Amino acid sequence: YNIKIKEVLEFVEENDVKFIRLAFCDILGIPKNISIMPQELERAFEQGISFDASSILGFMNVEKSDLFLHPDPSTLSILPWRPQQGRVIRFFCDIKHPDGSAFEGDSRNILKKAVERAEKMGYACRIGSECEFYLFETDEKGRPTYIPHDEGGYLDMAPLDKGENVRREICLSLEQMGIQPESSHHEQGPGQHEIDFKYSDALTAADDLMTFKTVVKAVASRNGLFASFMPKPILTESGSGLHINISLSKDGFNIFKERNYDSSAAKSFIAGVIDKILDITAFANPITNSYARLGSFRAPKYVSWSHQNRSQLIRIPAETGEYSRMELRSPDPACNPYITFALILHAGLDGIERKLELPGPINQNLYNAGADELQNIKALPQNLKEALDVASKSSFVRNILGEEMLSKYLEIKLKEWNMYFESEDRESVEKQMYFK
Ligand code: GLU
Ligand code: MG
Ligand code: MG
Repeated sequence: YNIKIKEVLEFVEENDVKFIRLAFCDILGIPKNISIMPQELERAFEQGISFDASSILGFMNVEKSDLFLHPDPSTLSILPWRPQQGRVIRFFCDIKHPDGSAFEGDSRNILKKAVERAEKMGYACRIGSECEFYLFETDEKGRPTYIPHDEGGYLDMAPLDKGENVRREICLSLEQMGIQPESSHHEQGPGQHEIDFKYSDALTAADDLMTFKTVVKAVASRNGLFASFMPKPILTESGSGLHINISLSKDGFNIFKERNYDSSAAKSFIAGVIDKILDITAFANPITNSYARLGSFRAPKYVSWSHQNRSQLIRIPAETGEYSRMELRSPDPACNPYITFALILHAGLDGIERKLELPGPINQNLYNAGADELQNIKALPQNLKEALDVASKSSFVRNILGEEMLSKYLEIKLKEWNMYFESEDRESVEKQMYFK
């Protein structure tokens, strides 16, 4: 740790760094940061930098408002879209109370604890996320409009695809930040895109996803566009999903690899995720608009798994070797990735501990299945309210998040639900809350 800090201080000196962003996210997954000057960095590492936590939704109250940001030196990254003289770098931070104890509302810490549990059980977890998003035009004042940037569809090329330069710039920025882009394409909806980057350990994967969303927003805005991660920004078009690919390895072996020595644990892991997915949905699909996406355009609605079928909750892709994994298809990009990854990981590990049996696959297209075929298949919650009700009764979620964080989360989300549900014009309420 100390060697790392020394390296960081040297890096700052040698690379003309002038501003240091201390980044974290609130319990909803909204990114936040505070900028400090290089002279303050040593103090930041030693004592942390304080901020007013009563002004962050769901964090603290006014009576007890001080929290401290402690930068994690291993997350240093240059922000390539900022000036290259008098550079800006960024760290993700741990959030602590004045007495140095971990803050219960720090979702990054919740994921760290999930990773520790996996390690204790002998597993290293890898996560790769596929994040979809839309590009919209902006008006003459730079404000977002609802006009998609192009009319392209799945895998289209220029001139139908007008996003090639933006995707290119995003990929190059990711590379400069130490994140390896793997592929990118125009998605199904007009102005919709996807860029996939390489998997990592679970904590880095969540950090990378936060970085990814920041990069997409920044590059879009530099190009006079607005990037939206809303799950269903255009109600009649394809939604934006956040597919989460997970694999575990034990003693260096990927247990999701066919016929590997521990594939029964992989099956139990999947069974565990299936067992808890309803409890997790309020976090993986956290906004009222999330539920407009589920059930069409290759987004799941039922609790089931299959090898190939993209209407299903879990897909076990055909890949072999190091890319063997499970793909969870219900989450969307509005989620807090730290909390979502942590809940999924715990659910799977519970499955392994309880040696759960994986039910058989369902290989039909569930979008047009008849009522009798769907009889024995559970559906995901139909709206945010249903999902919140399940979460509020879940001892699984309560144990992982703690009473305080869970009740704050539910309180904020119920408010959102009521704003939406009681409005005459729900679509514009959603836009107001989430199109930003
Ligand atoms: N856009 C779809 C979703 O909402 C996924 C499409 C795909 O399979 O890439 O999840
Ligand atoms: Mg896709
Ligand atoms: Mg996918």
